Amino acid sequence: MRIVVVDPSRTILKLVTQLLEAGHHEVRPFTEGHEALDYVRSDPDVDALITSVELQSMSGVDLCRETRLLATRGRPIYIVLMSSNYEQRKLIEALDNGADDFIGKPPATEELYARLRAAERLGTMQRELVRLATTDPLTGVLNRRAFFERAEELCARAASGRPLSGIMFDIDHFKRINDVHGHNAGDHVLRIIAHEAETENEMVGRLGGEEFAILVKDRPLADTVAVAERLRLKFAGLQLEANGKPITVTCSLGVSAWQPGDTIDQLLRSADVALYKAKAEGRNRVAAADTTLLAADHGSGVIRAAAR
Ligand code: GH3
Ligand code: MG
Ligand code: MG
Repeated sequence: MRIVVVDPSRTILKLVTQLLEAGHHEVRPFTEGHEALDYVRSDPDVDALITSVELQSMSGVDLCRETRLLATRGRPIYIVLMSSNYEQRKLIEALDNGADDFIGKPPATEELYARLRAAERLGTMQRELVRLATTDPLTGVLNRRAFFERAEELCARAASGRPLSGIMFDIDHFKRINDVHGHNAGDHVLRIIAHEAETENEMVGRLGGEEFAILVKDRPLADTVAVAERLRLKFAGLQLEANGKPITVTCSLGVSAWQPGDTIDQLLRSADVALYKAKAEGRNRVAAADTTLLAADHGSGVIRAAAR
């Protein structure tokens, strides 16, 4: 684990660091609370904080509380308070302020290792729970709720001037794929399509049955159209089969750019309008919601949907 250790005494700090390093942990030692807190803020890979109760510029209990505020569902941080004298009142205060555990100072080697093994088990479990709660079990991409949650954050960034655009896409005649090849083959197609969508390294979510969304950040709309067109070709070029019979898969895609004042619903609704335009125009194509794309779609087969 990567562990931040805070103690005003360099001797204690050295001792605890040596113990932890001998137990194959990575240590970031600090004598000062604010510096440790700044470090935890800046390094998302910190797994645990071990702090002395007695600090100089801020109390160990305050450091526990501030660190707890940094920990989120997706970022578990195990917090251990360390004290040279056992005081029940201090222990209660520490636990109430976000500490997970309490250990004597200097810590006994085997006890310290055992407590960190317990911390590791909890961290692994928490990460697994977050994964289960945020991903679609069939395809492994973000589920609807997690996609919208993260999309809200991207919308907030867009409001401060960072480009954002969205792609909605839907498998063409998917019902027929299920009917002809069976539901398992349909599931297989969903997994492959999601996997291909992820190769673009953008945020992908499964919003419903065979409907997916992608958000492209910090890139001009023309790039998003290019992503959509590249995916369309990839999907159509897939060589899939079920029980020896080839499965033909195509998708229709709609692209839209975030406009000032848009909520994530508005952005995706507009991409959805474009998607249905792509369906209506004959499927296996990309449509854009925005007329300003005209310059970008020259010769690419991209069509226009009604502008907002
Ligand atoms: P269109 O080209 O207009 O999109 O036609 P379609 O047949 O793809 O459209 P429709 O939305 O009517 O059909 C979607 C089908 O997707 C219906 C449903 O049975 C199937 N489906 C939804 N979720 C799953 C799933 O998890 N696995 C499988 N195998 N099929 C699913
Ligand atoms: Mg469909
Ligand atoms: Mg559909």
